[in-house]
Amino acid sequence: MVQFVRVLLVGDSGVGKSTIVTSLIKETFVGSIQHVVPEVTIPPEWTRERATTRIVDSSGLNLLSVISSLYHIIHQQLSARPEDRDQLEAEIRKADVICIVYAVDDQPTFNRVSEYWLPYIRKLGRNVPIVLVGNKIDLRGSDYTNESLEAQIAPIMNEFKEVETCVECSAKQPLNISEVFYFAQKAVLHPTAPLYD
Ligand code: GDP
Repeated sequence: MVQFVRVLLVGDSGVGKSTIVTSLIKETFVGSIQHVVPEVTIPPEWTRERATTRIVDSSGLNLLSVISSLYHIIHQQLSARPEDRDQLEAEIRKADVICIVYAVDDQPTFNRVSEYWLPYIRKLGRNVPIVLVGNKIDLRGSDYTNESLEAQIAPIMNEFKEVETCVECSAKQPLNISEVFYFAQKAVLHPTAPLYD
């Protein structure tokens, strides 16, 4: 079965959306399949699937597809201007899953997740799973814990049931980039299953 999953990355300017996509491409092209896959735990059922993930960067620079089980990338160009709001709305309407990216070292970008992005997506009538992506963890102090993340995210997940999960990453290091897309894809293909078996 080949299923297309369209992932849209949105979030404030400068949070690292383009770098996340670039990092994924580099990771996939530079590394072999063996290089990429061991970084994440792939639930057994995934290896039987040939799901294709289409990634759209809302800055309009990249449109690519990832075949998750093979981790092979096909990319095409999306000729949208970043400032083109109509294009963004059209992409939001087409997306199967939306990643809202914020930078962990920039509190206003996190605040805008619940104050702007989530209500905006709702207003467009989209009821798709949402994954919050906290990028730039390389810039954060080492005193941060999982509990701190949960405390920060819990009120948002309470208010916005469409938020499936939150994943943190660093596009620069890079760290956890494959996970962002696995989590996004899993939110669509296996919404009720545990994230890692
Ligand atoms: P976008 O506007 O959301 O697409 O953001 P960009 O991908 O253009 O990134 C904005 C800036 O943040 C650039 O200077 C990136 O190099 C930097 N950046 C992106 N991701 C990271 C990260 O994980 N860590 C650090 N330290 N910088 C990052």
